[in-house]
Amino acid sequence: MNKKRDKKKFKRKNINISNVELTDIDHFTDDEVSEEKRAEKKSIEKGKISNKSDLELAKGRILEVRSNYMCLVKIGDEEFTCTLGGRFKQVNFETKSIVAAGDYVNVDISRDLRIEEILDRNNTLSRFSDNDFQTEIIIASNVDQVIITSSYKDPQLNLGLIDRYICAARINNITPVICVNKIDLAESLDLVKQAGSFYEKLGFSIVYTSTKSGEGIEDLRELLKNKDSVFSGHSGAGKSSLLNMLQPGFKLRTAEISEYHKKGVHTTTRSRLLEWDFGGYLVDTPGIKTFGLHRNDKEKLKDIFPGMSTLARECKFFNCTHSHEIKCGVKSAVEEGTYPLARYESYLRILESL
Ligand code: GDP
Ligand code: ZN
Repeated sequence: MNKKRDKKKFKRKNINISNVELTDIDHFTDDEVSEEKRAEKKSIEKGKISNKSDLELAKGRILEVRSNYMCLVKIGDEEFTCTLGGRFKQVNFETKSIVAAGDYVNVDISRDLRIEEILDRNNTLSRFSDNDFQTEIIIASNVDQVIITSSYKDPQLNLGLIDRYICAARINNITPVICVNKIDLAESLDLVKQAGSFYEKLGFSIVYTSTKSGEGIEDLRELLKNKDSVFSGHSGAGKSSLLNMLQPGFKLRTAEISEYHKKGVHTTTRSRLLEWDFGGYLVDTPGIKTFGLHRNDKEKLKDIFPGMSTLARECKFFNCTHSHEIKCGVKSAVEEGTYPLARYESYLRILESL
């Protein structure tokens, strides 16, 4: 009977859902929900009858998911291999990401080390599988910031890509930080800063770095300190070089997810948290290149695209998409030259692509 239910749910995943929470039951029919709830209740009750009362819970954080049922968890200053309580295995069989690196958990330390509870996530970093189902795979959770890395040259600075990453970060409730690398290739720092001034004026954190000259590395380190960050950006922008410079000892992951995926093993996310010497974590993940926008995010784009929400107050229609509508605050600002045309065009490109 369980199997049947799982199959049904799997079919339902045909629908593209962005940023699904595991506990989100909106997407199931009432039947399924009540069944799910019954199962949940049962397992809680079952737990109560047995010796759940003598659980001794300790809060920890998942650093790495080794397999679906085994995790490396940091509790206090130590790391432990913990198993996942059976309840989770049953309830979320098809969601693929029962647990993710970055999850805060309660671990029962009274007998064997068992994860008994996954605490609510502030956010999730997800990718969508390449198969027809476009199933969400959670790469990591509770991430503070995305370091959007781009190079000034080689490859050429691409503000459109930065816009995209900013929107993707904001949609996922993660703070975007812009890092413009390879500034040694620019004729002058002024020129580089001019390129970033649009974002700087809007209050974004932005650093200018070079792994060749060492410029800006300390500024970047300051931004990373005591936060959990993921590096994202065009390949060749210098992410590995930056990470090597920030912490030479890190052994970073390379593309693994897709390999696993091809083989049809859906149960692993294979990302992990690596601790910086200076405090905080690097979310090391091979799947981050695909971190992007999803079709379902289209509606939210107008609210999160850099600098648009304030201009939208002048729009005639409250749900103006700033594309075909008349009396649009954004279009007026572009015409008056107070909002850069290039950024507006970038907005339209993203809008169309969704
Ligand atoms: P990734 O794909 O983002 O990880 O980029 P890499 O770190 O592999 O760097 C790509 C290339 O850019 C390599 O040849 C690096 O040596 C070079 N590179 C990285 N950082 C800088 C920099 O600050 N200045 C210059 N001129 N080249 C850099
Ligand atoms: Zn408008």
